[in-house]
Amino acid sequence: MDWAQLDWKQELANNVVTIDQLKEHARLAPEEEAKLREVAQLHPINIPRYYLSLIDWSDPGDPIRRMCFPGAEELVVAGAMGETTADPYGDDKHDKGNGVLHKYDYTALVVVTECCAMHCRHCFRRRIVGKPGGQAPRDFSGALRYIAAHPEINNVILSGGDPLMLSTPALRTMLEGLAEIGHVDFVRIGTRTPVTYPLRLFDEELLGLLRAFNERKALYIPTHFNHAREITPLSTEAVRRLRLCGATVNNQAVLLRGVNDTAQDIAALMQGLLAIGVNPYYLYQCMPVSRVRHHFQIPLKKGVEIVDAARAMLNGYGKRFKYIIGHDIGKLEICGMAGNQIVLKQMHARIGHPEQASRIIMQELDDNAGWVTV
Ligand code: SF4
Repeated sequence: MDWAQLDWKQELANNVVTIDQLKEHARLAPEEEAKLREVAQLHPINIPRYYLSLIDWSDPGDPIRRMCFPGAEELVVAGAMGETTADPYGDDKHDKGNGVLHKYDYTALVVVTECCAMHCRHCFRRRIVGKPGGQAPRDFSGALRYIAAHPEINNVILSGGDPLMLSTPALRTMLEGLAEIGHVDFVRIGTRTPVTYPLRLFDEELLGLLRAFNERKALYIPTHFNHAREITPLSTEAVRRLRLCGATVNNQAVLLRGVNDTAQDIAALMQGLLAIGVNPYYLYQCMPVSRVRHHFQIPLKKGVEIVDAARAMLNGYGKRFKYIIGHDIGKLEICGMAGNQIVLKQMHARIGHPEQASRIIMQELDDNAGWVTV
């Protein structure tokens, strides 16, 4: 299939969205099928045909399959890893209306859509993804007014959902509005489309918009590759096109059990990203998200071992990523273990708590702990 030739909007209609469609690809035992039908009610299935084509169906533990295929484990709400929440990042506390989340003085994040090309099974925003009519504003002007009225905001993240699921004219309105605000130095568009739906980056109208915006303000694209197998000729070309627009592409991966939980996986991912011009930026500890944590999170001690061993295989650019806890008080860099204690460094001060910036936090961890309380 020549994916690049397809119309990106029309092809979305061919996504696999039902259990019956999944059964055309994978054999499901009756008991499993019943559970997956329940799971699909809780977090709808949505898999682009392109991403589905990357699955090795002969391998039941295939990492690509694990990220997109619903699992019966999603019915588990309580388990050995501890408590879970629908809002691990504390988004609600920082919600200023019109989709604006203002957590740190200098950054505003705007949830601009609840749509994604794919519904990743590990998503930490699964409470909004695929549920239109939620947090995202129907009219971006309210968000623009908030940002314009706060001169301390020097950068804006368009997020979601996946902003590149919006039409190019809708994105144009947003970017042109942001370009007019003098104190906004740069804009980030968070998107997993280079990974799950690279054909979106073959839309010349979109590329023209990104190129033109980048001539006015610096444009950064945080993307989300989790496994070296997601780096394909098509995703490589999508990234190349973004870079030709002048955008800097940074990667934010998540450490996920059964997906990338070996040092070899992480090293291959980071090296593969460098080879296609993407900067390894963050590796997130999987958050305590309801219906995600118990089958995707790995203990922090094991995470540190994996990261340290991966770093030993990587050159300086490959090592640049930070292993991060996306806590509701802000990001905490996981520096390593000192005996039985995890050593964390707070990366940003929350609004009203300037004394917390760069503080070191040390906590005793048991072998199974996957999160910290601070
Ligand atoms: S693309 Fe991002 S926001 Fe959308 S489902 Fe995947 S992880 Fe969640």
